[in-house]
Amino acid sequence: MDGDTVSGGTARDPLVVESVVKRFRSGRNLVTALDGANLTVRGGQFVAIMGASGSGKSTLLHAMAGLTDLDGGRVLVDGQDLGALADAALTRFRRRRIGLVFQAFNLIPTLTALDNVTLPCEDGGAPARAAALLDQLGLAARRHHKPDALSGGEQQRVAIARALATDPAIVLADEPTGSLDSVSGQQICSLLRALCRDHGRTIVIVTHEPHVAMWADRVVVLKDGRNLAEFATDGGHDPQAVARRYQQVLGGEAVGA
Ligand code: ADP
Ligand code: MG
Repeated sequence: MDGDTVSGGTARDPLVVESVVKRFRSGRNLVTALDGANLTVRGGQFVAIMGASGSGKSTLLHAMAGLTDLDGGRVLVDGQDLGALADAALTRFRRRRIGLVFQAFNLIPTLTALDNVTLPCEDGGAPARAAALLDQLGLAARRHHKPDALSGGEQQRVAIARALATDPAIVLADEPTGSLDSVSGQQICSLLRALCRDHGRTIVIVTHEPHVAMWADRVVVLKDGRNLAEFATDGGHDPQAVARRYQQVLGGEAVGA
C-alpha cells in the first residue's frame, strides 16, 4: 500500500468507507443495518455490491453519499470526512461530486422528466444537457411527462439521467436496472462502463443480477451489514462466472435480493 494510508485505502482514493456502523430503531427493536462495513474504491473503478435483501446494501450506498448519520466509523470522499461537514456544506459537497440513483427513484412528482433531470444542476447549460441525456436513454418522447405518466422503467431511466446530469466524479446507483428489461439494463451498464473507461468516473452500483455485476471490476458481497467477501470479475463479462462466485461466497444460500 502506498503512502497516506487510511485503513485499507489512501487519502487519494475517491471513496473510503471505514468500519461503518448504522442502527435503526424499529418499534422496540434496534436493527443493525451496517455492522463494521469497509470499502475502498479507487478512482475510475467500477464496483458492484451484492448481497441478500436486508444485508445493508442501500444503507451503505446512502452512507457513502452522506445521507445518513452514522453510529460508528466514517466515510471519506476525496479525503473529506463527510461526518465533519455541517448540513449545508455537506449538501453542496454532495451536489458537486456525487450522482445518486435511489432504489425508489425519488423523482419529484410535480415536475416533468426534463425538470427532474435539470434540478440538481447549477448552470445555464443544464436543460440542453438534460435533454441530451434523456435522448441517450431513449426518453426523447417522454421529456415533458411527469413521473406518474411514466412506466417504472422510464422513471428509473429519468433517475439515472438526473444522477448523471451534473457530470459527477462519483456515481452511486441502487439497483439501477431493477425495473428495466434486459436490453435497457445492458444499455445502462454499458453507459456506466463507458463513464469509467473513457471519463475516469468512479462508480458503485448495488445489484443482485450477475448480468449487471459482470460489468464491474470488483464485486463486494455484504452479509448482515458486513463484508462477507469480494472477488474480481477480470473484465470477463461472464454472468455465469459471477453467479458461480457469488453462490460460492454465500456457501450455497439462495441467490436473490
Ligand atoms: P438492502 O438494501 O441490502 O436490502 P437495507 O440497507 O435497505 O438492505 O436494510 C438493511 C437493514 O436495515 C434491514 O433489516 C432493513 O429492514 C433495515 N432498515 C433500513 N432502513 C431502515 C429504516 N429507515 N428504518 C428501520 N430499519 C431500516
Ligand atoms: Mg436495497
